[in-house]
Amino acid sequence: MKLLILYTGGTIGMVTQRDGSLVPFHAEALRANVPDLTRLQAEVDCLSLGQPKDSSDLGPGDWRAMADALWVARDEYDGFVVLHGTDTMAYSASALSFMLGGSFGKPVVLTGSQVPLGVLRSDGRDNLLTALEIAMLRDEDGAPLLREVTVFFENRLFRGNRVYKNSARQFDAFLSPNYPELGRSGVELVLHRERLWQPDLGEGRRSALNPNVAVATLTPGMTESALGATLLRSSAEGVIVQTLGSGNAPAWPWLAAVLDEAAASGVRLAHVSQCRVASQSPSNYASGKVIQDAGVWESGGMTLEAAVVKMMLVLALRAEAQPGAWSTSWAGERD
Ligand code: ASP
Repeated sequence: MKLLILYTGGTIGMVTQRDGSLVPFHAEALRANVPDLTRLQAEVDCLSLGQPKDSSDLGPGDWRAMADALWVARDEYDGFVVLHGTDTMAYSASALSFMLGGSFGKPVVLTGSQVPLGVLRSDGRDNLLTALEIAMLRDEDGAPLLREVTVFFENRLFRGNRVYKNSARQFDAFLSPNYPELGRSGVELVLHRERLWQPDLGEGRRSALNPNVAVATLTPGMTESALGATLLRSSAEGVIVQTLGSGNAPAWPWLAAVLDEAAASGVRLAHVSQCRVASQSPSNYASGKVIQDAGVWESGGMTLEAAVVKMMLVLALRAEAQPGAWSTSWAGERD
């Protein structure tokens, strides 16, 4: 079995210099920092995606570069682990889940750490070794069990496009509020096979993307001019509106007009709730009506991160195809 580690940067890839400062290491230093890699029943190669970056600096161009690198290596390797900073791991995992397409069909596990690998107490060693073991899992016929993009962190495996970073302090940094964990590592490695995404293996890659997406958070006391700055005057072509509770909005007398004007000028509007645990159905509060009446797209329990990335990809489609694409689950990202 052959596995590939794609190294993009982040805290996991930091080692301490003699003067005590932390610097990113290069792919070749991985074996020195994790000697147990040789004990896996697999050949493991490591590839750097250019200069290691803090994940705050990763964006659409890097997502495409990651997807390209994985596709180039697809036939040579049986599974893939992407080492990535935690800050934007949820965005990259969402992007890869959409961009690789169902035909990729092999395990992809993103992981990282809260404490650098070069530090004695690092959580990176366990995260990396377990992520590699997860990428090796096979069914009775030797076929990969995982055919989706996942995030493994601390001791839990999640669908990559369902997570968000919840903690900058704890080792279990990620939560998946609207989809149960796919697996857990304890004394045994447990995978919930019935929860895994079964992709359409004939589905092609998605690479066209329009990054002109903004987020507008509805907050008490917000002015018309503040919301209008994003919806009407920012030139964003897609806006994710963060609503309240089960999809509600304040009773601002001007809100309907701002939403209508944005939609009439061609801006695509979708909403996710500021509550991370999403409501199962559209709001039945009077305060949710303005959002529904304006035709703002429902997000079906998508995370903000998945919604932002998906909007970028949807905007690159033909206008007529966009509403249907939004409401279809591409990679298990929405109910
Ligand atoms: N700032 C770092 C990053 O996202 C944090 C981490 O890796 O945990 O690259």
